[in-house]
Order: sequence, then structure tokens, then C-alpha cells
Amino acid sequence: MREGTATPVRRQDYTAPAYWIRSVELTFDLDPGKTIVTSRLVIERNLDTPPQPLKLQGEDITLLRVQANGESVSFRHEPGLLVIDNPPGDNFTLDIRNTCCPDKNTQLSGLFSSDSGLFTQCEAEGFRRITYFLDRPDVMAVYTVTLRADKKRYPVLLSNGNLLEQGPLDNGRHYAKWHDPFRKPSYLFALVAADLVAREQLIRTRSGRDHLLQVYVRRGDLDKTEHAMNSLIASIIWDEARFKLPLDLERFMIVAVGDFNMGAMENKGLNIFNTKYVLASPATATDTDFMGVESVVGHEYFHNWTGNRITCRDWFQLSLKEGLTVFRDQEFSMDMAGGPSARAVKRIDDVRGLRQVQFPEDAGPMAHPVRPDEYQAINNFYTATVYEKGAEVVRMMQTLVGREGFERGMTLYFQRHDGFAVTCDDFAQAIADANPGSMLSTRLETFKRWYAQAGTPHVEARGRYDAEQRRYVLTLSQWSSPSAQQPVKLPYVIPVVMGLVGPEGQALTLQLEGEYGHSGTERVIVIDDERLELVFVNVDVPPVPSLLRGFSAPVRLDDGLSDADLLTLLRHDSDAFNRWEAGQRLALSRMLAAVPGAAPAVLDDALVDALRAVLRDPSLDPAFKELVLTLPTERYVAEQLDTSDPQRIHAVHQALQAQLAERLHDDWAWAFEHHQVTEGYRPDSEQSGRRALANRALGMLVRHAVATGDAVWPGKAYGRFKEAANMTDRLGALAALVDAHAELAAPALERFHTLFKDEALVIDKWFALQAGAPETADGRVFTRVKALLKHPDFSLKNPNRARSLVFSFMNNPAAFHRSDAAGYALWAELVIEIDAANPQLASRLARLMERWRRLAEPWQSAAREALARVAAKPNLSDDTREVVSRALE
Ligand code: ZN
Repeated sequence: MREGTATPVRRQDYTAPAYWIRSVELTFDLDPGKTIVTSRLVIERNLDTPPQPLKLQGEDITLLRVQANGESVSFRHEPGLLVIDNPPGDNFTLDIRNTCCPDKNTQLSGLFSSDSGLFTQCEAEGFRRITYFLDRPDVMAVYTVTLRADKKRYPVLLSNGNLLEQGPLDNGRHYAKWHDPFRKPSYLFALVAADLVAREQLIRTRSGRDHLLQVYVRRGDLDKTEHAMNSLIASIIWDEARFKLPLDLERFMIVAVGDFNMGAMENKGLNIFNTKYVLASPATATDTDFMGVESVVGHEYFHNWTGNRITCRDWFQLSLKEGLTVFRDQEFSMDMAGGPSARAVKRIDDVRGLRQVQFPEDAGPMAHPVRPDEYQAINNFYTATVYEKGAEVVRMMQTLVGREGFERGMTLYFQRHDGFAVTCDDFAQAIADANPGSMLSTRLETFKRWYAQAGTPHVEARGRYDAEQRRYVLTLSQWSSPSAQQPVKLPYVIPVVMGLVGPEGQALTLQLEGEYGHSGTERVIVIDDERLELVFVNVDVPPVPSLLRGFSAPVRLDDGLSDADLLTLLRHDSDAFNRWEAGQRLALSRMLAAVPGAAPAVLDDALVDALRAVLRDPSLDPAFKELVLTLPTERYVAEQLDTSDPQRIHAVHQALQAQLAERLHDDWAWAFEHHQVTEGYRPDSEQSGRRALANRALGMLVRHAVATGDAVWPGKAYGRFKEAANMTDRLGALAALVDAHAELAAPALERFHTLFKDEALVIDKWFALQAGAPETADGRVFTRVKALLKHPDFSLKNPNRARSLVFSFMNNPAAFHRSDAAGYALWAELVIEIDAANPQLASRLARLMERWRRLAEPWQSAAREALARVAAKPNLSDDTREVVSRALE
């Protein structure tokens, strides 16, 4: 349904529902062309609200019949609603019969067809595309579901909860009846009718209860389910151990589907996953894919408590479940990774994502608080701010109350709210109340500005050392830029984990004026106002401050450190995150210095030597080295500038890469030789770190060889590509050839395609690699993308495939931001085309243009024109309309 005139929904307008739905009995006569849905709702008027009509949501469905208490009842339609003006009393049952059409459901919201069968996706507002309902998360009901379908085509019939019975029916059909004992909102409903097989595992948890775990996939994919199953078991064990949260279901199912807009969905007891986050075998999935499976399986499993047992009162509270659950999956992955260094690597990865996606979002036209105040299309608010910044807000709470205090807070949260639909305030209150006297509880109202204010705060830090007095005075101040909706911003509570590092790299003891005794070498300083002055005493040497360790708050820090200071931190900081950060900042400053001029960028000796020292340091993990030796991305550089010229940034980036390749040539060769993994494949952090470093080294060596006309390293890369024992090494070698535009890239790509033509997820990589390669002066990447759009394997209908080619290309700055605007023309064309079938996917593509105001000319004008072209299109979905109109505002 296209209304086109969507009025925004506002958080302040929340009112409790006028009716409750206590139980739901659903019967599905499943057919891809026309499915008949019969629904019996036990309804109770909410006596706390004035008497009013019952208004049920419905979208793209056809009503056949409606009865109340078994008798006909008068009803009418409003746009998107079925209205019953005079329900028969305060308690009644409503019987509804309607149809929907899975085959025509290209949006993938509601009940849709994929090649293996029929699947549902109900979050946020998909249930109304299945049947008429009070489709809001604070209406929670108990569901009993009967599925009827052709037995041959759909041998597996699943829904939430426990299987009550199943059996044959006439005409080759069969049925299954499911009951979910837990009250849940409609967005957590799910059904699957498909031709699938399952990997099964019985487990007994600590409490002594037995559970059946199942991972359902297509027949040929069973050999790729071991890692998902192991990840599920690890998640169950972890949540019990860390938060005392046990599995509350007899049966827990994961189902993989190839057509899916998002990563996965936490439907109660029946998680539905994008195949990308289930299927993994060493031959077809990279180390990064294995990690992705582990974290998404964990994420969805953790939602069972944070999301399902306690859910959101309304969609403005989305971060209540998402921010918290991302925090939990990050902690899970860190605990799984192992020691301090592997944990730091995971943290660096997460922060890189946050700064590359969420920071720009927070500075652009779609900026919104972690708890938004209004939206037009709720699907547009499944954002990095709600998810990743929301997770940082939870992490800051943990930093303020300590790990044990946080666990106490979680316990109180469940004591108070289990079984209910609540708000972000309820969560913060529980964590604070469990920790009286903490900075979280004494400054709670101020802390909660993290939920209410959009934008990334700035923190400025300046230190003064007084050798005579042996004092070090550190002044910290914060400020936030005004934004359209929030012209005045108030100060935040900002936890700053810090240390002081001496000139020889020693960690100095931190003693504040007025304190007696020693206080350790690291502490949490809390800024809770515009300015804070700290006086450290008994400081014998001039220190270098190491602030915001582990990225303890999502802020932009300006600490004014000199290159010499940063080199000290890069060499010696005991905090691995800040060591990495120091290296990034040194590289970034070289890039930023070179961008405005025409002069070539130069990697100076000091930085080269420091990077070499890291690469050669036997005490450091390969995974960490790989991160330190990776330059900040072009996108990250662009974000530091008010106006950016994507082509100039690309040129600078390429020049520095070339120098890194050349000046560390022998070190790269050493790194490549010495980080080979010869034992059997394990996707753990130790092995994957070695592979990551060896692959980066190979990339550098091939790049340098192609630049100098040498054939040895490209030949070695090709050999490695052919012989590789796993996908990480195979793709690494292929990427080395493709990224360097080596002659051997073409035969390697062809061979890769032949080898994996039947593996959809691997073909996605094949498209993504080509679309993401560094652009050349003669535009080879763009030309390739245009050709690949016509490749027989390409299709815009499948979200993974569309992302692999189109999104990868549009995230490739130099290829996309062409001075002839051809990239933008293609963007406009594709947004419009995708929008007609799948608005959620289209609006995500549309968002890739939202930072257009930051572009220099001629890009800025060309981008505005492309946006205007899309905006002028009548019939645009609400999702895409909201994005382009906010971008143009
Ligand atoms: Zn989630």
C-alpha cells in the first residue's frame, strides 16, 4: 500500500492500546499464490482508556469475513485499518478470515516466497501484512498456530513454541499445530513452510533441563551448519554463565533463507536467518564470515531475554532491545575471542564500524537520538545509532557501575519487568537502582541525555606538566554542535578511562590531589559538566595522557597530542586500543595534510619506522599488527573534512598505500612467509589473525609488483589462489590480484566463478570484490560494474546479490563519485527500480547519498540533481521518500 502522505509518528503521542488481545488462534491454508488466514482473537477492552472503536491494522491483504462472538458485526475500512465501531462488550472473540499472496510479496515483509518455501518476517510492522491485528509491540498474546500445506512441496511446517501435533490431510496435504506458551507481541510471530533439513542437537543445560536445538537449511547445505550450531551452544552457555539467563524453551530453531532484507530475526523459538549468517564451511566462508555467524547467532539468541521476555513498549524504544543486545553480542564475541589482545582486536573492529557508519549518520540529515522522537517509516530507524551507539550507551553504563554492578542491574531489570513491554527509562533506572551511589545513579538524568540528544559530542583535553611541583594538570571540556531539531545541547556524563604514560613508556601511578596512597595506573574519570580539571600529583616525568582507552565513550576526542606523543603511545601504551588509535592518527594526519594541496602525500621515516617496529614485534598478535598497518579508509578521511573531493582523497590514499608497500617491502615479504597457517583450519582468533596478516602482506607485495612491472608476486598469488585450502586464503589471494589490477586477475576471477557457480554466497563475494576494487584513472571499476549488472547471475530481487554488486560499488568512493556523474545517474535509476519492489532495500541504497552536502563541486551539484530526480518520482515508498526528502531539506 502506497499512501505517499505519511504523517510522522511522534514519541510524545504514545497512548496505551484501547484493547488487549489475550490469545490468538491462527490457521493457515498455505499456498504461494493465495494463502487463507483464519484468526480467532480473544479481545479485552483496556478499561484504563475511554470506550472507542476497535481499529485493527491490515496491509496488502483481502478481507473475506469478520464475526464477533460468532455473529456478524458491522465494520468499515479506513486506510490501512479495519474498524469495528461497536464491538459487543468489553470481552469478546473476533473471527477474521482473509487472504494474502506470498508470491507477490517482493518486499519480504509479512508472508513471502523464497525458492525453498514460505517464510515470514514480522518486525517491525509485517504481521499486518498477514492478518488484521493490533500490530504494536505492547499488545502481547499467547499464540496457537495450525499450518496446512502441500506435503511434498513443504515437508517442514514450523511456528513458534512447541509442536502439539502433526499429521496427514487429504489431497497430499499435511498439517502441524504449534503452541507458544510465552506471551509475545505480533512482531515476534513466525512461520516456515519449506523443503528443508535440520542439523539437530540435544543439550542439557545447567538447570538440568533438556532442549532440542535445530538448524534448518536446504538439503545441500547441511555440511555448512556445524559452526552455527556450535555458536548457538556457546551462546546458551555464555548467557547462563555471564547473566544467569537460561534457555526457557524446549525447542530452539534457526532457519536459513536466501531472500532476507536484514541479517536475522529473533522470533520466539524460531529465529529466521539470512543464509549469510548461518552457512559456513572452510571452503566457502572466510574468517570474517565465521565471526559474523557467531555474533549474529549470539545476537538473536540473546534477544530471547533482551527483546522477547522483556520487549519494547513502542518502536521509539527500539534501542532498549537492540542497543542492549548488540552490547551483549559484542561482549560474547570478546569473551569467545580469548585473551586481552584478541579482545582489543574485536573492540577495534567494533569502533571502526561505529566511527565509519554511526558518526556520519549522527552528523547528517538522518541524525536522530538513540531514542528517536519521530519517524515516518519505522524501517528507516533500524540504524547504526539505535544499534551501535545504543550499545555504546549500555557499555558506558557498565563502565560507570563496573562489570558486577552491571550484572546486578540486569538481574533487577528482569525482576522488575520480565514479561512486559517497557521503555529505555525503565532499563536505565534498573541499572542505576542496583548501584546506589554510583555516578550512574547520582547523575542518571544527565546520563540519559545520551538517549535524548542526537549528534556526537566533542571532548577537548589539554595537559600541563609542572616539573617543579611534580604536578600534571589535565583539563577536559565537552561541547556538542547544535542540530536542526535540537539547537541547544546539554552536557553529557562521559566516562573517560585513562592512564599516563612516561617518556620511556612506563605506566605512571595516578594520584589525584587530595588523595593519599597509590591508586593504580588506570582509572575512570567522569566528565559530567562542561569542564573538569584534574590535578595529578607526584608525577616525576612529563607524561603523555592516554585518554578514552578502549574507546570508553562515543565522542570525538581532541587531545592535542604531538607526533612525538603519538609515537610514544604507538610504541608503549598498555592499552592496545589506544596504541592502534595513535597509529591511525599519525597516518590520518599525513593524509589530511596532503589532501588540500597538489603536493604528493609522504610517509615520513618516523612513521615508517614505527609501523615496521609494530610489524616486527614478536610480542604482538598478528591480528593486531594487521589493524595497525591498515590505513584509515577513504571514507573515514572524508568524514574529517567539511568539504571533500573523493578523487583527491583516493589519490592520496593510493599514494600512501604505494609507499607503505614499497618502504616495508622486505618486511611484508617476511610477514607473508612467517604467518602461514599449515595446520587444519580453525576459525579462531589466533589462526585468523595470521591469515589476515599474511593476506594483507600479499596484497601489498602484489600491489608493489604490479607497479614496478615485476611478475613474481602476482604469480605467487595466483598459485596460492589455485591451491588455497580455505576461502579466506583463496579470496585473499584473489583480492590481491583484483585490487592491484594485475593481469592474472581476469583468469583468476573466471576460475573462481566456475568453481563456485552454485554457491550463492560465494558468487556474492565474486561480485563484491570486483565492485569494491580501487578505481583506476580510466574508470575500469565502473565499466566493470556496468557490465556485471547485465551478468546472468545478477539480480536486484535478491537483497544479498543486490548488496554485493550495487552497494559495494556505491560504497567505493572513487568509483562511485565520478566527475561525469554517471555513478549518481546509476544510483537514481537503481533506487527507483528497487523501490518499486522492495522499499526497505531501496531506502538503504538511498541513504548512501545522504552526505552529499559535504562533497566539493562538481559532485555536490550532481548529487543534488540525482536526489531531486528520485524525489520527483511519484509513488515512491514512504521509506525512500523519507530519506530523500530529509537529505534535500
Ligand atoms: Zn537485534
